Amino acid sequence: MTAKERERLSRAQRLVVKIGSNALCHPSGELDQEVLSSLAEEISQLAETKKRTILVTSGAVKIGLHKLGQSRAKDLPTRQAAAAVGQSELLSSYHRAFSAHGMPVAQILLTQAELSDFKRYLHLSNALDALISRHNAVPILNENDPVSAAGVEIGENDRLAALVASKINADLLVLLSDVDGLYTSDPNKDPDARFIPVVEIVNQEIYALAAETSSF
Ligand code: GLU
Repeated sequence: MTAKERERLSRAQRLVVKIGSNALCHPSGELDQEVLSSLAEEISQLAETKKRTILVTSGAVKIGLHKLGQSRAKDLPTRQAAAAVGQSELLSSYHRAFSAHGMPVAQILLTQAELSDFKRYLHLSNALDALISRHNAVPILNENDPVSAAGVEIGENDRLAALVASKINADLLVLLSDVDGLYTSDPNKDPDARFIPVVEIVNQEIYALAAETSSF
Protein backbone atom coordinates (compact mmCIF):
# COMPACT_ATOMS: atom_id res chain seq x y z
CA MET A 1 0.00 0.00 0.00
CA THR A 2 1.35 3.43 -0.91
CA ALA A 3 1.78 6.26 1.62
CA LYS A 4 -1.01 8.17 -0.12
CA GLU A 5 -3.40 5.23 0.25
CA ARG A 6 -2.48 4.85 3.92
CA GLU A 7 -3.13 8.54 4.43
CA ARG A 8 -6.51 8.24 2.74
CA LEU A 9 -7.43 5.30 4.98
CA SER A 10 -6.36 7.10 8.13
CA ARG A 11 -8.65 10.03 7.30
CA ALA A 12 -11.77 7.82 7.18
CA GLN A 13 -14.32 8.88 9.80
CA ARG A 14 -17.30 6.69 9.03
CA LEU A 15 -16.55 3.01 8.54
CA VAL A 16 -18.54 -0.03 7.58
CA VAL A 17 -16.83 -3.23 8.74
CA LYS A 18 -18.13 -6.61 7.66
CA ILE A 19 -17.04 -9.84 9.28
CA GLY A 20 -17.72 -13.20 7.66
CA SER A 21 -18.86 -16.43 9.32
CA ASN A 22 -15.56 -18.23 8.80
CA ALA A 23 -13.58 -15.35 10.29
CA LEU A 24 -15.88 -15.12 13.32
CA CYS A 25 -16.49 -18.79 14.10
CA HIS A 26 -14.46 -21.92 14.67
CA PRO A 27 -14.99 -24.57 11.96
CA SER A 28 -17.37 -26.34 14.40
CA GLY A 29 -19.71 -23.31 14.27
CA GLU A 30 -18.85 -22.07 17.73
CA LEU A 31 -18.16 -18.36 18.05
CA ASP A 32 -14.49 -17.48 18.38
CA GLN A 33 -14.57 -15.34 21.52
CA GLU A 34 -11.02 -14.09 20.95
CA VAL A 35 -11.89 -12.71 17.51
CA LEU A 36 -15.00 -11.11 18.95
CA SER A 37 -13.11 -9.48 21.83
CA SER A 38 -10.38 -8.06 19.62
CA LEU A 39 -12.96 -6.75 17.15
CA ALA A 40 -14.78 -4.98 20.00
CA GLU A 41 -11.53 -3.61 21.34
CA GLU A 42 -10.43 -2.22 17.97
CA ILE A 43 -13.82 -0.66 17.24
CA SER A 44 -13.87 0.97 20.68
CA GLN A 45 -10.35 2.34 20.06
CA LEU A 46 -11.54 3.81 16.78
CA ALA A 47 -14.48 5.39 18.64
CA GLU A 48 -12.06 7.11 21.01
CA THR A 49 -10.64 8.96 18.01
CA LYS A 50 -14.18 9.83 16.82
CA LYS A 51 -14.18 7.22 14.07
CA ARG A 52 -17.61 5.60 13.93
CA THR A 53 -18.17 2.01 12.89
CA ILE A 54 -21.20 0.21 11.58
CA LEU A 55 -20.68 -3.52 11.87
CA VAL A 56 -22.17 -5.97 9.39
CA THR A 57 -21.95 -9.45 10.83
CA SER A 58 -22.49 -12.88 9.39
CA GLY A 59 -22.41 -16.01 11.50
CA ALA A 60 -26.07 -16.44 12.47
CA VAL A 61 -26.65 -19.46 10.23
CA LYS A 62 -23.35 -21.13 11.11
CA ILE A 63 -23.80 -20.65 14.87
CA GLY A 64 -27.46 -21.67 14.70
CA LEU A 65 -26.71 -24.88 12.78
CA HIS A 66 -24.16 -25.77 15.44
CA LYS A 67 -26.66 -25.04 18.24
CA LEU A 68 -29.31 -27.15 16.55
CA GLY A 69 -26.87 -30.00 15.98
CA GLN A 70 -27.09 -29.78 12.18
CA SER A 71 -24.02 -30.03 9.97
CA ARG A 72 -25.58 -28.04 7.12
CA ALA A 73 -28.77 -26.29 6.10
CA LYS A 74 -30.46 -29.03 4.08
CA ASP A 75 -33.42 -26.82 3.16
CA LEU A 76 -34.62 -23.22 3.49
CA PRO A 77 -36.67 -23.71 6.70
CA THR A 78 -33.61 -25.26 8.39
CA ARG A 79 -31.50 -22.29 7.29
CA GLN A 80 -34.14 -19.87 8.56
CA ALA A 81 -34.46 -21.67 11.90
CA ALA A 82 -30.69 -21.75 12.29
CA ALA A 83 -30.45 -18.03 11.49
CA ALA A 84 -33.07 -17.18 14.14
CA VAL A 85 -31.32 -19.26 16.81
CA GLY A 86 -27.84 -18.09 15.83
CA GLN A 87 -28.73 -14.41 15.61
CA SER A 88 -29.75 -14.18 19.27
CA GLU A 89 -26.58 -15.96 20.36
CA LEU A 90 -24.55 -13.66 18.10
CA LEU A 91 -26.08 -10.48 19.50
CA SER A 92 -25.76 -11.48 23.12
CA SER A 93 -22.07 -12.22 22.51
CA TYR A 94 -21.56 -8.83 20.83
CA HIS A 95 -23.45 -7.23 23.72
CA ARG A 96 -21.03 -8.78 26.23
CA ALA A 97 -17.93 -7.91 24.19
CA PHE A 98 -18.86 -4.24 23.67
CA SER A 99 -20.17 -3.79 27.24
CA ALA A 100 -16.58 -4.27 28.37
CA HIS A 101 -15.84 -0.99 26.55
CA GLY A 102 -18.99 0.81 27.67
CA MET A 103 -20.51 0.77 24.18
CA PRO A 104 -24.13 -0.20 23.58
CA VAL A 105 -24.90 -2.42 20.61
CA ALA A 106 -27.95 -1.99 18.40
CA GLN A 107 -29.34 -4.85 16.35
CA ILE A 108 -30.67 -3.99 12.90
CA LEU A 109 -31.94 -6.78 10.67
CA LEU A 110 -32.53 -5.90 7.04
CA THR A 111 -34.24 -7.26 3.99
CA GLN A 112 -33.94 -6.16 0.39
CA ALA A 113 -36.99 -3.92 0.96
CA GLU A 114 -35.11 -1.53 3.26
CA LEU A 115 -32.39 -1.10 0.68
CA SER A 116 -34.59 -0.59 -2.33
CA ASP A 117 -37.47 1.50 -0.93
CA PHE A 118 -36.49 5.15 -0.49
CA LYS A 119 -38.68 5.84 2.57
CA ARG A 120 -37.53 2.76 4.44
CA TYR A 121 -33.94 3.45 3.55
CA LEU A 122 -34.29 7.01 4.85
CA HIS A 123 -35.56 5.70 8.20
CA LEU A 124 -32.66 3.27 8.30
CA SER A 125 -30.18 5.98 7.51
CA ASN A 126 -31.60 8.30 10.22
CA ALA A 127 -31.50 5.52 12.80
CA LEU A 128 -27.89 4.66 11.95
CA ASP A 129 -26.95 8.29 12.12
CA ALA A 130 -28.50 8.76 15.57
CA LEU A 131 -26.84 5.62 16.89
CA ILE A 132 -23.32 6.47 15.80
CA SER A 133 -23.35 10.27 16.03
CA ARG A 134 -25.39 10.84 19.19
CA HIS A 135 -25.11 7.68 21.24
CA ASN A 136 -21.69 6.18 20.52
CA ALA A 137 -23.47 2.89 19.88
CA VAL A 138 -22.38 0.15 17.51
CA PRO A 139 -25.08 -0.73 14.99
CA ILE A 140 -24.84 -4.44 14.24
CA LEU A 141 -26.45 -5.33 10.93
CA ASN A 142 -27.32 -8.63 9.35
CA GLU A 143 -29.85 -9.82 6.84
CA ASN A 144 -33.17 -10.79 8.42
CA ASP A 145 -32.66 -14.33 7.15
CA PRO A 146 -35.74 -15.97 8.75
CA VAL A 147 -38.07 -13.71 6.76
CA SER A 148 -36.03 -13.08 3.60
CA ALA A 149 -37.88 -14.63 0.71
CA ALA A 150 -35.91 -16.90 -1.60
CA GLY A 151 -35.10 -15.14 -4.83
CA VAL A 152 -35.32 -11.61 -3.38
CA GLU A 153 -32.90 -12.06 -0.52
CA ILE A 154 -29.82 -9.83 -0.19
CA GLY A 155 -27.90 -13.11 -0.09
CA GLU A 156 -24.38 -12.16 0.86
CA ASN A 157 -23.29 -9.81 3.57
CA ASP A 158 -20.45 -8.50 1.38
CA ARG A 159 -23.23 -7.16 -0.80
CA LEU A 160 -25.26 -5.89 2.18
CA ALA A 161 -22.19 -4.10 3.54
CA ALA A 162 -21.37 -2.54 0.17
CA LEU A 163 -24.94 -1.30 -0.29
CA VAL A 164 -25.08 0.18 3.23
CA ALA A 165 -21.64 1.78 2.81
CA SER A 166 -22.66 3.50 -0.40
CA LYS A 167 -26.04 4.61 0.93
CA ILE A 168 -24.69 6.20 4.10
CA ASN A 169 -21.65 7.70 2.33
CA ALA A 170 -19.14 5.72 4.38
CA ASP A 171 -15.49 6.70 3.91
CA LEU A 172 -14.28 3.14 4.13
CA LEU A 173 -15.63 -0.39 3.74
CA VAL A 174 -13.58 -3.16 5.35
CA LEU A 175 -14.35 -6.81 4.61
CA LEU A 176 -12.90 -9.18 7.23
CA SER A 177 -12.82 -12.69 5.88
CA ASP A 178 -10.80 -15.89 5.97
CA VAL A 179 -9.47 -15.02 2.49
CA ASP A 180 -6.65 -12.43 2.25
CA GLY A 181 -8.23 -10.55 -0.62
CA LEU A 182 -8.76 -10.81 -4.34
CA TYR A 183 -7.12 -13.73 -6.14
CA THR A 184 -6.88 -14.62 -9.82
CA SER A 185 -8.81 -17.81 -8.94
CA ASP A 186 -10.00 -19.66 -5.81
CA PRO A 187 -6.81 -20.18 -3.70
CA ASN A 188 -8.47 -23.14 -1.93
CA LYS A 189 -8.77 -24.97 -5.22
CA ASP A 190 -5.98 -23.60 -7.39
CA PRO A 191 -2.35 -23.68 -6.12
CA ASP A 192 -1.38 -21.23 -8.89
CA ALA A 193 -3.88 -18.59 -7.73
CA ARG A 194 -2.17 -15.18 -7.54
CA PHE A 195 -3.02 -12.52 -4.93
CA ILE A 196 -3.90 -9.07 -6.31
CA PRO A 197 -3.03 -6.57 -3.56
CA VAL A 198 -4.48 -3.39 -5.08
CA VAL A 199 -7.23 -2.88 -7.64
CA GLU A 200 -7.19 0.64 -9.07
CA ILE A 201 -9.99 0.26 -11.58
CA VAL A 202 -12.70 -2.38 -11.81
CA ASN A 203 -12.45 -3.26 -15.51
CA GLN A 204 -13.77 -6.28 -17.43
CA GLU A 205 -10.73 -8.33 -16.49
CA ILE A 206 -11.22 -7.73 -12.75
CA TYR A 207 -14.97 -8.19 -13.04
CA ALA A 208 -14.42 -11.59 -14.66
CA LEU A 209 -12.63 -12.78 -11.47
CA ALA A 210 -15.90 -12.69 -9.49
CA ALA A 211 -17.22 -16.16 -8.73
CA GLU A 212 -20.00 -17.79 -6.76
CA THR A 213 -19.72 -18.04 -2.98
CA SER A 214 -18.43 -21.28 -1.51
CA SER A 215 -20.18 -20.62 1.86
CA PHE A 216 -23.39 -22.45 2.71
N1 GLU B 1 -26.76 -13.65 6.88
C1 GLU B 1 -25.96 -14.84 6.95
C2 GLU B 1 -25.68 -15.25 8.39
O1 GLU B 1 -25.79 -14.45 9.30
C3 GLU B 1 -24.61 -14.68 6.26
C4 GLU B 1 -24.63 -14.39 4.79
C5 GLU B 1 -23.20 -14.42 4.25
O2 GLU B 1 -22.50 -15.43 4.47
O3 GLU B 1 -22.76 -13.46 3.65
O4 GLU B 1 -25.29 -16.35 8.62
